[in-house]
Amino acid sequence: MCVAVRPDFAMVRGEGSWLWDDCGRRYLDFIQGWAVNCLGHANEVIVRALCAQAAQLINPGPAFHNAPAARLARRLADASQLDRVFFANSGAEANEGAIKLARKWGTVNRKGAHRIITLRNGFHGRTLATMSASGKAGWESLFEPKVPGFIKVPINDLNAVRAVLDDSVIAVMLEPIQGEGGVIPASDGYLRGLRELTAEAGVLLILDEVQTGMGRTGKLFAHQWAGVLPDIMTLGKGIGGGVPLAALVARQAVCCFEPGDQGGTYNGNPLMAAVGCAVFDAILGKGFLENILARSAELEIGLKALATKLGFGEVRGRGLLLALDFGVPIATAVAERALAAGLLLNAPKPSTLRFMPALNVSSDEIALMLELLAGAVTAQLSLR
Ligand SMILES: *Cc1c(COP(=O)(O)O)cnc(C)c1O
Repeated sequence: MCVAVRPDFAMVRGEGSWLWDDCGRRYLDFIQGWAVNCLGHANEVIVRALCAQAAQLINPGPAFHNAPAARLARRLADASQLDRVFFANSGAEANEGAIKLARKWGTVNRKGAHRIITLRNGFHGRTLATMSASGKAGWESLFEPKVPGFIKVPINDLNAVRAVLDDSVIAVMLEPIQGEGGVIPASDGYLRGLRELTAEAGVLLILDEVQTGMGRTGKLFAHQWAGVLPDIMTLGKGIGGGVPLAALVARQAVCCFEPGDQGGTYNGNPLMAAVGCAVFDAILGKGFLENILARSAELEIGLKALATKLGFGEVRGRGLLLALDFGVPIATAVAERALAAGLLLNAPKPSTLRFMPALNVSSDEIALMLELLAGAVTAQLSLR
């Protein structure tokens, strides 16, 4: 089955911001497995944690406590000011858990109400429920019938939420920055407004921080920029630094799951949790978040300078989740040219390039990326 279009070579080795293919070609990686490898490729902290834990205990099964999972849960709970953590293997699975938890909460506390307000252009994963929650264009007609109970509203429009927020609703669920949707930020004011609105209505605020969490935006969690606290948060991607790990984090008052409601063979396995602990410590290490902001400023300045030189294009995003929107559909072709020049870039939309390097990317690597990007854009434009 072909589920993705891929170039005709294989990647064989990685180190930091660099990848090598099976022909020995080298690539500067500003995709990093879709914002997953937050410490870059083959980071020694991760390799060490993985090897040490593998030699000790890989998986006693989810029926038993294990030390790495307990350690990571404690750290996440403390850092998020939320109380309870449930581990999963993917962002979609964590979001599926968030949807289930909200529905159970609705059954217990809201007379069986179950509808969740989500955003158009949002992305929450590829299980049936998370595809149903997503607002990705072109997905409306896929895999029908979808899971019912999701109401879609446009981003950054509080009145649109007010208009549909009735007794049938139990939660509002969104990404602080729509990543797959082309790096479209929910404004801080909008997030604060949503927090007030949901609190007044007595419904839950669920933040999908699968892409924005774990330092990606320069704070541990993106919602900290707005100074709001969600009732439920999901984490994925960067939390495992490249290994399959995700988490559902929630306030105690919301946690109405009972034994058997949620689970999975690999959930909370110590091998992945040990990596999660190592990644967590690295992100909260001295100067790490500050470095993200410094590199982000360099990247943003460089992208804006390129847009100015071109006479078109807009830069969006926060931290090391930035986009250059050309406003014209050249991004896919530019990404292809960049690939040929040894630079990995992602075009989530035909007119938009997304930049999600390792969070420990260097100044030199950003400068080199900007140089290769300018070359790819110039080559593409002189063709047209
Ligand atoms: C990637 C992503 C997901 C899905 O995560 P998977 O690990 O691919 O299942 C969900 N939500 C957001 C915001 C994402 O960026």
